[in-house]
Amino acid sequence: MSAVPGADLRHKVACEQERIDEILHEVGRLYYLGAERYGEQLKRLCSDIDERKRRIKNMKNQYDAMKSVRRCPKCQTELNLDYKFCGVCGTDVAHTAVNAGKELEVRDDE
Ligand SMILES: [Zn+2]
Repeated sequence: MSAVPGADLRHKVACEQERIDEILHEVGRLYYLGAERYGEQLKRLCSDIDERKRRIKNMKNQYDAMKSVRRCPKCQTELNLDYKFCGVCGTDVAHTAVNAGKELEVRDDE
């Protein structure tokens, strides 16, 4: 578990988006070389992009679910909304508990 909740997911989404850019680059190259000759390859690359976009969507849903959970700012334990103290480390969380914070940046290039 990483120190910042959601950091893993943010990193994974960034990796997928980077890969999509690479694939799009390759699609452009093959298209330039001859869409008919490379049709099968182009189809594969395009469905690869679709698959990655599906994965990003799932990760975004996971992230949103994670964001709605309150966590102890000290040990990151998930807390019920009505807890006043963290059950693990005893931190006063009445006013300090945090959620995963900032929005997951998902590019919308549909
Ligand atoms: Zn704690």
